[in-house]
Amino acid sequence: MANCGQLFPVSSTERRPSMNRMSHHSSTPISSARILHRGEPGYEPARREALWNARLPPRYPDVIVQACDVHDVVAAVRLAKKKGLRMGVRSGGHSWAGNHVRDGGMLLDVSRLNQSRIDPVALRATAGPGCAGSDLLPALMDQGLFFPAGHCRGVCIGGYLLQGGFGWNGRVLGPACQSVLGLDIVTADGDIVHASESENADLYWAARGAGPGFFGVVTRFHLRLYPCPRFVGQVFQVYPIEALEEVFRFAHGVRHDVPRSVEFQLIMRPGGRLRKRPHIEIFAPVFADSYRQARRDLGFLLDHSIGRHAQLRLPLLPARIRWLYAAAGWSYPDFHRYSVDNMWTRASIDALLPGLHTIARTLPPAPSHMLWLNWMPSTQPQPRADMAFSMEDEIYIALYGAWKDASDDARYDSWSTERMRELSPLASGCQLADENLGRRPARFMAERNLARLDQIRGERDAAARFYPYMGRL
Ligand SMILES: Cc1cc2nc3c(=O)[nH]c(=O)nc-3n(C[C@H](O)[C@H](O)[C@H](O)COP(=O)(O)OP(=O)(O)OC[C@H]3O[C@@H](n4cnc5c(N)ncnc54)[C@H](O)[C@@H]3O)c2cc1C
Repeated sequence: MANCGQLFPVSSTERRPSMNRMSHHSSTPISSARILHRGEPGYEPARREALWNARLPPRYPDVIVQACDVHDVVAAVRLAKKKGLRMGVRSGGHSWAGNHVRDGGMLLDVSRLNQSRIDPVALRATAGPGCAGSDLLPALMDQGLFFPAGHCRGVCIGGYLLQGGFGWNGRVLGPACQSVLGLDIVTADGDIVHASESENADLYWAARGAGPGFFGVVTRFHLRLYPCPRFVGQVFQVYPIEALEEVFRFAHGVRHDVPRSVEFQLIMRPGGRLRKRPHIEIFAPVFADSYRQARRDLGFLLDHSIGRHAQLRLPLLPARIRWLYAAAGWSYPDFHRYSVDNMWTRASIDALLPGLHTIARTLPPAPSHMLWLNWMPSTQPQPRADMAFSMEDEIYIALYGAWKDASDDARYDSWSTERMRELSPLASGCQLADENLGRRPARFMAERNLARLDQIRGERDAAARFYPYMGRL
C-alpha cells in the first residue's frame, strides 16, 4: 500500500501503465486506469488481486477497472451507467465473502486511492479508501494521535468504515464510522459530492453502516482523530479446553464490569503448532492513561480466581501497536481459504454453553478459531449517533474456518455457517464486518434503519447500479 500515512499524492511512477484506455470503449476517457475485460490477458490476476481470501468465488465480472484517481472513478461510473453495467467496489478486498466480486457488470477497484493526510493540530485526517488502517494507525501514533483502525494488517478503511468498524480501543471510541466526519462520494450518476452532517446528509447517514450495501463510491474519508492513549498494554492467558465452562461463565459474568478501556476477547483454538491441544486464549489489549490505570482496569481479570485454571498467565505488559497487529495477525494468515460467520447475542450463558461445546468439538484444524468479544454497548456514556449502523449487542461471537487446500473446501466450508445457524435462535443479529449474507441471511441493521436505507437507495441509485447485499431477511 504505497503512500498510506504520507502527505503526498500518488506519484506518476506509482501509476500502473494502462493496458487499455476506457476511451477505447467510451466517450468518457479514463486517464490512468487499467481496464480488463473478461477473457483478456491480465483479467484473472486482477480478479484474484481483488480478494484477500484465497477462496475466490466462481463469479466473473464482465470488466475490471483499476482506478488510480477520482477522475477514473467518475469515468468508470459514467461508463457503467451508459452501458447498463451493475457495479461492485473494492478497496482492500478483505470482504470474506467477496461481496464485490459478482457475476457480470463492473468490478471497480479503488485500492490505489490510498493517500492520507494528517492534521495533528486540528485532530483531523483525510484518507483514501485504499489506505490500510494498519498503515494509518502506527503513523498517527508516531505523532501522538489515534484512530480506532481495524485489528489486522491490510484491512482497508473503505470497507471497514462503511460497515461500522470494530477497531483498537473501539469500546471507548465506538464503531469507527462514528469518527467519520465526512466523505467524498461519486454517486450513481457519476457526480462527485461531499457528504456530511450539513451536506448530502442522507448519504452521510447511509455511509456510516451500510457496509457492502452502499450505493456510491467513496473516494475519500474525512476523519476525527484522538490523542493517543499514554499506555497501551495487553494481558495474555491460556486455558485448557477442559475449562471451557468456567472460562466462558467468567467472561459472561463479568460483562458489565469490564472497563471500556479493555478489549476483552476469548479465542478458542484447536491444537496447533505451538500448543498441541485445543485451548482458549484470553487476549485483553488495554488503552489507558498509565500503567497504574491499566492494572486497575484489568483487576476484574488479574485478581480473579479464574486464573487458577490457566496453563499460562502473563502479567500486564506494555505493547507496541505493531506487536498487537502481529498478535492479531497470527489468527488470520495470508493465502488461506476462509469461511466465516458471526452473531451478536445477549443470551444467558446457560443457553449459550451447549453451542460453545459443539463449536469446541467440531473446530476444524488451526488456524480456524472462534472469537468471543465482550462489546457491551450499554456501557457507552452516550447514545450512538443517528446513522445506518444500528446492530450491536452485549457479546460478539464469530467463527473463522481457515484451511489451505482447495481439496478441503467440502470438509470445512460449511462449519461456520452451520454452527451459526444452530445458534441463531440465541442471536439478536450479525455484524457486517464478518458477514456471510449470501449463505445465511441474518439481521444486520435495525428494521427502521434498513427501511430508511432502502428509501435513500431508491432515491440515490434508482437504476440499482450498485449491487445490493448478497442476502437479507
Ligand atoms: C483478516 C481480516 C481481519 C479483519 N479484522 C477486522 C476488525 O478488526 N474489525 C472490523 O470491523 N472488521 C474486520 N474485518 C472485516 C473488514 O473490516 C471488512 O471485511 C471490510 O469490509 C474490509 O474492508 P476492505 O476495504 O479491506 O474490503 P473490501 O472487500 O474492499 O470492501 C468490502 C465491501 O465494502 C464495499 N466497499 C469497499 N470499498 C468501497 C468504496 N470505496 N465505496 C463503496 N463501497 C465500498 C464493497 O461492497 C465491498 O464489497 C477483517 C477482515 C479480514 C479479512
